Amino acid sequence: MNVTVFGTGYVGLVQAAVLAEASNRVVCIDIDTDKIARLKQGEIPIYEPGLEPMVKNGIATGNLVFSTDAAYGVEHGELLFIAVGTPPDEDGSADLRHVLTVARTIAAHMDCKKYIINKSTVPVGTADKVRAAIGEQLAKRGIPDLPFDVISNPEFLKEGSAVADCMRPDRIVIGTSEAESEQKLRHLYAPFNRNHEKILVMDVKSAELTKYAANCMLATKISFMNEIANIADKVGADIEAVRQGIGSDPRVGYQFIYAGIGYGGSCFPKDVKALISSARQRGLSADILTAVESRNERQKHYLADKILAHFNGNLNGRVFALWGLSFKPNTDDMREAPSRVLMDRLWGQGATVRAFDPQAMEECLRIYGARDNLVLCDSKNDALQGADALIIATEWQQFKALNTGELKAALKTPVVFDGRNQYEPDELGEAGFEYYCVGRPDLT
Ligand code: NAD
Repeated sequence: MNVTVFGTGYVGLVQAAVLAEASNRVVCIDIDTDKIARLKQGEIPIYEPGLEPMVKNGIATGNLVFSTDAAYGVEHGELLFIAVGTPPDEDGSADLRHVLTVARTIAAHMDCKKYIINKSTVPVGTADKVRAAIGEQLAKRGIPDLPFDVISNPEFLKEGSAVADCMRPDRIVIGTSEAESEQKLRHLYAPFNRNHEKILVMDVKSAELTKYAANCMLATKISFMNEIANIADKVGADIEAVRQGIGSDPRVGYQFIYAGIGYGGSCFPKDVKALISSARQRGLSADILTAVESRNERQKHYLADKILAHFNGNLNGRVFALWGLSFKPNTDDMREAPSRVLMDRLWGQGATVRAFDPQAMEECLRIYGARDNLVLCDSKNDALQGADALIIATEWQQFKALNTGELKAALKTPVVFDGRNQYEPDELGEAGFEYYCVGRPDLT
């Protein structure tokens, strides 16, 4: 099918590459000229496992084309995907500026029936706004009867496994009440719907709400476990034992119930805020979501508080090795990452950070620039040299195996602050370390 995707970020680029791999002819449009120039050369602006070969293959077969020419994009695609950012506004509500700009751009150029498919995460009612924006523009052009449909097709991919998630989705939600639109999308997604039925067709508003409900449920699981971890701290229980104890009940399950130093990224924080805002606009208080958010904000300070207490409130001149900058493993994304709150706290107390992340070093440099109190290190071992303690902020696989001999030799003092419960306290204790973790008795 002829498809155009507006927005070449984590969602748009991955979706476009996967659809091109399935032999669709896909044009990607972005307003970022630099990004499009790099993509044309097969240079991928983000880290996402498996994406680069797929994009290069799409370019080589001619199925994947990058452009800044919106008119060309509208003309090319029968199916037009909107996959642009929906950042939080000042009041936490989703800023629909980019979505509505794309809607107007489409309306300014379309001259036959188009299926406009919204993949961005947007509040309930956005499809109606997109429809109105397009209708208004078509009326101005003197072609008010030109047919189109606006479909909600929220995206559930996870950064770090985005390609695999799009190739083998858990479910494909299609929000439309038009049979023809449903058929078009069923046809497009048929290669990804082979082994069992994954397509869920529903009304547009339910599809829009499903995406927020999914992310808010996941954020709730994390904040719930973090709350229990804080209680475990106070009562002397071990959250890892509690996790096993509750996860073994299939009604709870083991997934997504790890205690840590809070969720981050471009989705959970903004989507929780946006759903709270949507609820408030309708006179509801969204008590659970408000608590989820405030627990998360406080949880990002959890390790910094322990570090300060350990060093008797004085970090001036101290040096910390920090393993992990991205908000989770397998991505270079540092948006709303707990590591950022942690570094700000350490810097605010006069400490220096020696940081290492397998993928986010470039992103870290882009965010913070060169500064005296941040040393960007070449390896995890390099980060340790001469540090007063090691801090783990992201559970990258390569941080899991710990060589306690090397660690002890490199650090000034054998102290580990583990924000992701990666190690066995007994092993570190036997090796002579002081070990602080989340919701487990600290070894001091
Ligand atoms: P992103 O910020 O990585 O990318 C958005 C892209 O849209 C940018 O390249 C930007 O230049 C481009 N853009 C902005 N205005 C444009 C316009 N008028 N025309 C063409 N391009 C334009 O965003 P993302 O992470 O891909 O997220 C996109 C949407 O998908 C958001 O609503 C997000 O909440 C949702 N989502 C994200 C994820 C995720 O893991 N990142 C997962 C599911 C859903």
